[in-house]
Amino acid sequence: MKAWIVEEQKPIEEGPLKLVELPIPEPRGREIRVRVTHCGICRTDLHIAEGDIPLSKKPVVPGHEIVGVVDALGPEARRFKIGDRVGISWLNYTCGECKYCKRGEENYCPHIKRTGYDVDGGFAEYTIIREDFAFDLRRHSLSSEDLAPIMCPGITGHFAFKLSEIREGERLGMLGFGPTAYYLLRVAKSMDIEVYISTRSEEHKRVALQYGADWVGNLAHQDFPHKVDAFIFFPTAGHLVERALANTLPAATLVLGAVAMTPITIKDYTSNLWGRRIKTVYQVRRDYGIEFLEIADKLKLTIEKEIVSFNDVPDAMLRLKRGEINGMVQVIDFGVE
Ligand SMILES: [Zn+2]
Ligand SMILES: [Zn+2]
Repeated sequence: MKAWIVEEQKPIEEGPLKLVELPIPEPRGREIRVRVTHCGICRTDLHIAEGDIPLSKKPVVPGHEIVGVVDALGPEARRFKIGDRVGISWLNYTCGECKYCKRGEENYCPHIKRTGYDVDGGFAEYTIIREDFAFDLRRHSLSSEDLAPIMCPGITGHFAFKLSEIREGERLGMLGFGPTAYYLLRVAKSMDIEVYISTRSEEHKRVALQYGADWVGNLAHQDFPHKVDAFIFFPTAGHLVERALANTLPAATLVLGAVAMTPITIKDYTSNLWGRRIKTVYQVRRDYGIEFLEIADKLKLTIEKEIVSFNDVPDAMLRLKRGEINGMVQVIDFGVE
C-alpha cells in the first residue's frame, strides 16, 4: 500500500514526509482493517513532521482524523461487517484496566496509544484498529469528508466544552479560532450561549461572525463586552493567559487546549486568578466522541474544507503551516469509489 511516513523530523519545506510502499497490514484478534477513504490533516501532524513533538515510533504514518470502510476482520472481530463505515480518532487504544480507565477517564490511561503517533495512522491506504476503538458511522448522516475533521477538532472541542462546564444562557469566551473553536461555536450557538471570540485573523473573524459569534476582536488589545462564565484558550501564548483570566467572572473555568505553552505568569492573583478554575484538555475520550457524533448528526455540522489528493499531502501541509488553506480544514480524499 502507499503511505506517507515521517522518519526524520525537519521543517516541512525540507520534506520530512516520504511516500513509500508498505505491506498491507493484517488484522489480528479483535482488530479490523480499514480502507481509508478520507483523512483530515491536523496541526498536530505538522508538529509530528517538524519535530515540535518527539517521535514515539520511527518511522510513523501520521494522520488521526480517519474515515474509511472495514476491509478485513481479525479472527475475533465481531462488531462490524466488511464494507461498514467507521471513524478513527487520536485515541487508538487504552488498557481498560487501570484506575483511570475504570473510572471513565481513559484519556489519562498510562498505556494509551495514539493514532498516527504511537501507531501508524491514516496517511496510508489501510490502517488497523481494535474494533471497540473505532467509531460506528454506519448510520451517520454527514458525508465522510465532513466526518473526518469531526474525528479530531470536533471531538476535542466537545471535550473542552464539557470541561468548561458552560451552561445554557451563559457567556463563553474563546481565544484562537481554528477548527476546534469553530465546532465549539456551532454547538454553543445551538444552546443559547453568548460567544465572544478573540482572533487576529480577519478571515477567521468573518467565519466566526457568519456562524453567530456575538463579538469578535483581539483580546490582546481590547476587553470582551462582558466578563464570561467560561473561557476556552487555544494558542500556545502563555503570556495571554492572564488577559483571558481578567475577562472571566469568579467561578469561571478556564480550559487550556494547547499541548505546549510558553511560560504563564499571573501578576495579579487577587483580581485575575482567585476563584477561577483552570483545566487542560488531555488526549481524548471515546464517550465524548460518541456524544459529539450524535450532536454533529443532529446539527448537521459541516465545515468549510479544502479537499486534498493523496499525492498532494506535503504541499497541503506546507500551506497549513503558512496559513494559506482554503477553508477551515484540509481533508485528504483517497479517491476510493
Ligand atoms: Zn488532530
Ligand atoms: Zn488504562
